Amino acid sequence: MSTDAAHTVLAGLDDARDDLESFYRDLHEHPELSHQETETAGKVADRLRSAGYDVTTGIGGTGVVGIIENGDGPRVLLRADMDALPVHEATGLDYASTVTTKDADGQPVPVMHACGHDVHVACLATAAALLAAKKDQWSGTLIALFQPAEEVGDGARGMLDDDVRDIVGAVDVAFGQHVLPMPAGVVGTRVGPVLSAANSMRVIVHGRGAHGSMPQAAIDPVVLAAMIVIRLQTIVAREVAPTEPAVLTVGSIHSGSKSNVIGDSAVIELNVRTYNDETRKHVLDAIRRIVRAECAASASPKEPDFELYDEFPLTVNDETVTQRVTAAFADFFGDKAGELPLQSASEDFSDIPSALRTPYSYWGIGGIDPDTYAAAEQAGRVSSDIPVNHSPYFAPVVQPTLDVGTQALVVAALAYLSSDADASASRSRTA
Ligand code: ZN
Ligand code: ZN
Repeated sequence: MSTDAAHTVLAGLDDARDDLESFYRDLHEHPELSHQETETAGKVADRLRSAGYDVTTGIGGTGVVGIIENGDGPRVLLRADMDALPVHEATGLDYASTVTTKDADGQPVPVMHACGHDVHVACLATAAALLAAKKDQWSGTLIALFQPAEEVGDGARGMLDDDVRDIVGAVDVAFGQHVLPMPAGVVGTRVGPVLSAANSMRVIVHGRGAHGSMPQAAIDPVVLAAMIVIRLQTIVAREVAPTEPAVLTVGSIHSGSKSNVIGDSAVIELNVRTYNDETRKHVLDAIRRIVRAECAASASPKEPDFELYDEFPLTVNDETVTQRVTAAFADFFGDKAGELPLQSASEDFSDIPSALRTPYSYWGIGGIDPDTYAAAEQAGRVSSDIPVNHSPYFAPVVQPTLDVGTQALVVAALAYLSSDADASASRSRTA
């Protein structure tokens, strides 16, 4: 069974645990914004080199790839994202971030690992080292990939534009994971769509400015934008089947500067989450249709402008790969392994495997203290009491979160790399 190899490799975790935890606290205390992950990348590269990996740095900015070749066998890619968010940390942890920096527009912003990418980096660096230390337990090639700028959706594409394909070569299977607001200790897998596709759109509608006391001389963009915001809510409610999840949020709306001046335009920024390409296309087309029609209804003097940005692909876990990993997790984690609910968040993890035509699986691990979670669940207050990713209070408990994140990566990799992985795969197929 491949779990034998996993237990042998993971026996090394007892000695590595102090280092894993202190590396995590160090990353948490020193977060870096998207595209600025230079120190994090440097620490990762040093660790991979000392574990015996062939390391390439600076891919697509700060991306790092470590490769270790260990005889015949599959080529397995494990991925972690490295960036933090412009959030002011409010966790009160003794290793909380007090970092401030400048964002892409040069504005000073606080920085916090509010999405848990520090967990991903620490776990992958440790899993990579543990696997390298027990090369007699597996054969094949292990590729550890650390990508920048997941939060802005273009880090993986940046690595592809910088020819990461040539560095990693052919890849047979790819894995990624995310720490989520579930009880720490659990690991969840899911076949098929797991994370939504996301699209942000900026819409500019045009009116005609005038004095606030003379509406007859104006075409009021505030009223036009208000009509659009309300009417857009009918897309999900009236045009998408109730069995098909979709979200449309208008997150920002701006027009005018003074109470008695009618402005000449309004800017609406919205975000769409969908789980299949047909729905995504329908919703985006419906937005354009409604905006144009409302502009016509208001006698807008100019066609509206549409700009798509911050695009995230759909994440769809391969069935065969996910079943194999699910069986390996069930062997190793027992009843702590389960099904991951469909997530409304989005990721650019799939960009690289999709470009390489590599099947992949992406799973979730819990990060919330199990007693705290159970108490919130009992009180029916999970949504209000449990801080989620991107919250200034998001604070995964160090353990068992870090152990499980490291173990999951090793177990999944060995489901393909260990000498008896084929036997366990055929066993899981017939189960
Ligand atoms: Zn995030
Ligand atoms: Zn994230």
